Amino acid sequence: MNVMKTFSDNLKRLSISIGRKGVDTLQINVGKLCNQSCVHCHVDAGPDRHEIMTRNTIDSVVSFVKKSSIKTIDITGGAPELNPHFKHLVSSLRSIDCHIIVRSNLTVIVENNKKRLPQFYKDNEVELICSLPCYLEENVDKIRANGVYRKSIEALKMLNDIGYGKNGANLMLHLVYNPASVSLPPLQKKLEQQYKHELFKRFGIVFNNLYVLANLPINRYERYLKKIGKYEYYLELLKGNFNTEIIEHLMCRTQVSVGWDGRLYDCDFNQMLNLYLKNGKPYIIGEVALQELIGADIQVGEHCYGCTAGNGSSCGGSLI
Ligand code: SF4
Ligand code: SF4
Repeated sequence: MNVMKTFSDNLKRLSISIGRKGVDTLQINVGKLCNQSCVHCHVDAGPDRHEIMTRNTIDSVVSFVKKSSIKTIDITGGAPELNPHFKHLVSSLRSIDCHIIVRSNLTVIVENNKKRLPQFYKDNEVELICSLPCYLEENVDKIRANGVYRKSIEALKMLNDIGYGKNGANLMLHLVYNPASVSLPPLQKKLEQQYKHELFKRFGIVFNNLYVLANLPINRYERYLKKIGKYEYYLELLKGNFNTEIIEHLMCRTQVSVGWDGRLYDCDFNQMLNLYLKNGKPYIIGEVALQELIGADIQVGEHCYGCTAGNGSSCGGSLI
């Protein structure tokens, strides 16, 4: 395979340009505060982070959505539930008939006095995408921290008990896998079968879909790879598996991401690298109309190889 030096060079060589085709989803990162500090975290999130979306910015986001045609909202963090205005955000968006997706790390539900969260999710018909990087305790605790697996299972049971993940309940519960080793994710459907079998056999837990994600070599994961001497190896692995078929399906082509401070980005990864959308100056939510963002060029970098390797990777799992 002929691999060029940079991601942009590769696109130029193949005469591919990446523009935004439309915006059907707004992803909102409400802050970097998290109750965990996972090794693979591209956000560098943790309990000591103070960057949090304010109530004013949240209200600007809601009014932006109100004036737009966007109907799907994907809320992430950090642990989004730790933003003190989280419920206000969800309720406001539901009142204008948006479908809400929340990315939860599960443990936040059983820590931090959040045990009423499952009912709140249910009342607002929130679709949940929850991280559980393995069905085995030792692997989860190795990359997330001791006790994380046990708490995650407790949270999944609470969600199942009120109908999440069950056939016909219309309360969607998806799990997210990302590799613990320095490798590409395995085939999504095959791993989903294993997850379903193992979690049901061990705990009677059910869920809808498994999304497999590649780890992007930025921030904490980049530092980790450098520490173990595998950074170059991983970049070469991603580049060596560059797949042109993925370009058409990249999530940045149909979504926009807003950061805790109201700046707009192509995706959550660009957000963490301060690669913001701009036209002379940064685009800030409340100061821009949705139409201006359609057709705008996507800001790409080496990290984009993480989305285009193998079967592709996105917040919704494999792309093909
Ligand atoms: S990966 Fe998720 S749960 Fe882990 S530190 Fe980052 S935001 Fe928190
Ligand atoms: S990191 Fe992925 S989603 Fe973000 S701009 Fe690059 S290809 Fe698009």
